[in-house]
This record gives sequence, C-alpha cells and structure tokens, in this order.
Amino acid sequence: MRMLVVEDDAAIADAVCASLERDGHAVDCLANGKAAIAALQEHAFALVVLDLGLPGQDGSEVLRRLRAAHDGIPVLVITAREELDLRVRTLDLGADDYLVKPFSLAEFGARVRALLRRQSNRGVPILQIGRLAIDLAGRRVRLDDRPLDLTAREFALLEILASRHNRVTPREHIIEALCTWNDALTDNGLDIAVYRLRRKLAGSGVNLRTVRGLGYLLESDDGP
Ligand code: CA
Repeated sequence: MRMLVVEDDAAIADAVCASLERDGHAVDCLANGKAAIAALQEHAFALVVLDLGLPGQDGSEVLRRLRAAHDGIPVLVITAREELDLRVRTLDLGADDYLVKPFSLAEFGARVRALLRRQSNRGVPILQIGRLAIDLAGRRVRLDDRPLDLTAREFALLEILASRHNRVTPREHIIEALCTWNDALTDNGLDIAVYRLRRKLAGSGVNLRTVRGLGYLLESDDGP
C-alpha cells in the first residue's frame, strides 16, 4: 500500500520509512507540513504517519485540514513527550492512534498493521479467498498448507486485489497504490507484476483476471 510519512527528523523518518518498506509498502517521505497538505490533496494514500512539530505547517493543522475535507484516511501521529497537550488536541482532531518518541519499530509496525486492519478488512487479519489464505499482518500467503513465495510488490498487488475481491480494480488505482515519487511503477512494471503473480497463482483456483479496458479482478473457482 502507498503511505505518506511526514517527519522532519531525518533519522526517525529514515527508520520509519525503511520499516514500512520492509513490510512491502510504497512509502513517500516529506519533512514539511505544507508539502504534506498538498500531497494529501493530490494522491490517495492508505495511511499517514504524521509528526506534530513540523516546519511549514504543524502536524495538527495538517490533520485538521484532512478531517475538514472529510478524509477518513488512517493517521498515526508520532509525537515528542513535551507535546502532551498537543497530543490530546490531536486525538480530538481525529488522529487514529499516536506513539510517543522514542518508540520501538516493532511497536510502530504493530500499530500500523492494526490501523490498516481496522480500515480495510473489518478487523480480520487473514483474508481467505478460495484455497488462498492471505495473512495481512504477517505479510505471508498460504495455499492450502503450503507457503506461497511472493515478492513485496507481488504481495502488495495481491493485497489490493484481495481487499476488492470480485470487484474490478482499475489499473490507475493499482499504479497509484504501488508507486512512490522516487520509485515510479510504469505500465510495463505493472504488466510484469501481474504476469508473475498470475503465474504463482496458477493451479490455486484463484484467478487474476484481466477485464479489458477496465482493470483486474481476483476471483476463485469455488465462488467467494
Ligand atoms: Ca518534528
């Protein structure tokens, strides 16, 4: 999934972005509140990690604008200990969760997974589609009892299609979700990812179908 990290402390930003990327997400990183507001208007992100003390526009203002625009995107606020009052105000403004610096990356990862589960999968950490079990928290897939070996990009593609099971997902939506500013996903790149994932799903009873002119669809032979 495509995520936005807004943090002006480079060391924290690097660690948080690397951790999200290890979990297979596409991550864009900004250090300025104004730039974050512009980016959020322009792109669809699955989640925002938001520092409160930011140059340009502080984090609580970024959040206020998001919620004023009725954007329900999950927001995980990361805050310094001395910003306690601000923290309370931030939750009132509509943050979904917060972490106080310094935090462990293990806890950070767990909070992110919990927010994503709450948002898109109705709290179910494992999506079952036909004989395929997609473990969203563990970023693993099993076919019957056998692990299916997917790259981070293939997993991300499967996750997007699986969360819209039996509905067509447009190509642009997938490209938007998988690319970042630094790492663009070309049309060709998507074709290759689709080709490889389809090959790995062969014989599983779950088909990655192309709906010409519209996009892609995940369906299982034995119904939903
Ligand atoms: Ca800061």
